Amino acid sequence: MLVVLLALNWIISSFFLAPPAREPVSYTFFLTQVQANNVAEITSTADTIEGQFKKEVAYTPTGDTKSEQVDRFTTQRPSFADDDLFSQLQADSVPVNANPPDAPAPIWQQLLIGFGPTILLVALFVWISRRMAGGGGGGGVLGSFGKSRAKLYQPESGPRTTFADVAGIQEVEQEVTEIVDFLREPEKYRKLGAQIPHGVLLSGPPGTGKTLLARAVAGEARVPFFSISASEFIEAIVGVGASRVRDLFDQAKKVAPSIIFIDELDAIGRARGSAQSLGGNDEREQTLNQILTEMDGFTGSEGVVVLAATNRSEILDPALLRPGRFDRRVVVSPPDLAGRRAILAVHTRGVPLAPGVDLDGIAASTPGMVGADLKNLVNEAALLAARRGHDQVRNNDFTDALEKIVLGTVRGLMLTPDEKERTAFHESGHALLGMLTPGADPVRKISIIPRGQALGVTFQSPSSDRYGYSKQYLKGRIIGALGGRAAEQVVFGDETTGAESDLDQVSNIARQMVGRWGMSDAIGPVTVLPPPGQESPFGLDGVAPGTKELIDSEVRKIVDECYAEALSLLRSHRPQLDSLAHRLLQTETLDEADAYAAAGINPSDAPGAVARGEAPGSSPAPGIPHAVSAESNGSGAA
Ligand code: ADP
Ligand code: MG
Ligand code: ZN
Repeated sequence: MLVVLLALNWIISSFFLAPPAREPVSYTFFLTQVQANNVAEITSTADTIEGQFKKEVAYTPTGDTKSEQVDRFTTQRPSFADDDLFSQLQADSVPVNANPPDAPAPIWQQLLIGFGPTILLVALFVWISRRMAGGGGGGGVLGSFGKSRAKLYQPESGPRTTFADVAGIQEVEQEVTEIVDFLREPEKYRKLGAQIPHGVLLSGPPGTGKTLLARAVAGEARVPFFSISASEFIEAIVGVGASRVRDLFDQAKKVAPSIIFIDELDAIGRARGSAQSLGGNDEREQTLNQILTEMDGFTGSEGVVVLAATNRSEILDPALLRPGRFDRRVVVSPPDLAGRRAILAVHTRGVPLAPGVDLDGIAASTPGMVGADLKNLVNEAALLAARRGHDQVRNNDFTDALEKIVLGTVRGLMLTPDEKERTAFHESGHALLGMLTPGADPVRKISIIPRGQALGVTFQSPSSDRYGYSKQYLKGRIIGALGGRAAEQVVFGDETTGAESDLDQVSNIARQMVGRWGMSDAIGPVTVLPPPGQESPFGLDGVAPGTKELIDSEVRKIVDECYAEALSLLRSHRPQLDSLAHRLLQTETLDEADAYAAAGINPSDAPGAVARGEAPGSSPAPGIPHAVSAESNGSGAA
């Protein structure tokens, strides 16, 4: 590149540096011009005469038909010429110079113009590429593309994240600490013949603290820590990803013991040749292959550990997960009650709390929330307290912030009395069925203040963390979700668009019951539907057309049964429905105690209360959000 650039530069500049060409004219023509007194000046060496005419004149070279305009000329004086040229020129007072004719530009000028611009350009390139490489050893002119962009955390620099900043995920911390320990004292493990895993894969829902944990490892490990997001390997230029991987591992090996952290691994680690990767994603595949190759290249004595994080370990390429690569897989699950309490404690360290703040209560009322949510909750509460002019954050700042996060921001929307009444009955329908259905989550809040997209909200949450769901509970959820529409039907004999999101929820739960959880007799205990969010664009694979129809009819059967149940429950409890709705119309918002009182139900006698404190299972069932029955105002229901 450099040589080509220099050559090009030289050629172009020599065009500019070359003196303008002179037109050779015949000596006779020159003489006529001298006689016409049209010669401005001349230079002469031996018989060559070069010079300039005062005015351009037309000259037709011998043997040519076209004439051309000439002002700079050169001519040759024949040795036999017997004119008195010099005195003629003197008479016309034409200056006669003895300079060497058309000397080339001085050598320093040639060099400067010939190579200067190229050298300047190259210098600029080097400078830019160094800056892009973070001031470090950003190498060659264009070679920095293939360099890894990994950030190197030096053991002692800046404010460190430590394990003290991570709360509520002890088991995970334990696993990771072991790795850190190994890197610090490899001898302790080697003596016993133990081999440290090559790779540790952290997987879990977003916001559970995977990246945070990795940063804590960086802070604690006191070994070089390279951190990169998998998407940073991929560039528009093919082959760059693989070369970046190579570079990253080379760097890490050079300074071993060290840790490489690859965040959001699913960006490149997706199973090769799967439906989602159709359409030639060679670059991603090459990058993935390179990672596999590098990890295989470890003999275990290098002391390089690869830490990776992903939100979706189920879509990862199986090759990544086989022993010898990411052979240790750590699931980071959403925190339980104690975990949430501990995370709240971490994030309220720097927040002045008023004496009445009940962090245990807040932890109890936030089931399903992950670390990032809790951090956000604390921040919202602090913002709210500042806006209200408190100098400490009070408990009601927390509860109001929680309400805002869970239910949405209040919208200044005026409802007509008609709409308001409808919404009140709709929400009362949800709430009453939530109180009457055995096993349902207690009703925490009912509101007919419009928020976000919703005209009204009923919020239910379990008293303790739920990890698995019974068929009866799920049916209760469907009945509760249909309660809004059922109430409208019972009271007004009419239906509105308001139930759109309820119906979404209903079909979602019912389809999963049939297709994924084996809860219908006709389909039986087989999964026939893909997990939510992983539907293939080509429809259902491996499911016979007859089965698809059966799925539909089974879903319909469940929903129909539940709707009939909802209608009959509401009809038989009509007075309670009316009293709840009227109370709601008066106050617009009811919390748990008021709501049960208005419906005339004792919370501890409510069938819904029976199921409190169920035995925890493994992990929360996917695809079941908390029961927030929010009414859209139908704007998107066209
Ligand atoms: P992800 O699992 O998606 O990588 P992050 O690690 O980025 O989640 O978490 C986002 C933020 O949430 C963190 O910066 C931290 O402030 C907070 N957070 C998440 N989990 C925890 C936890 N277990 N303890 C303390 N803070 C947490
Ligand atoms: Mg992350
Ligand atoms: Zn509803």
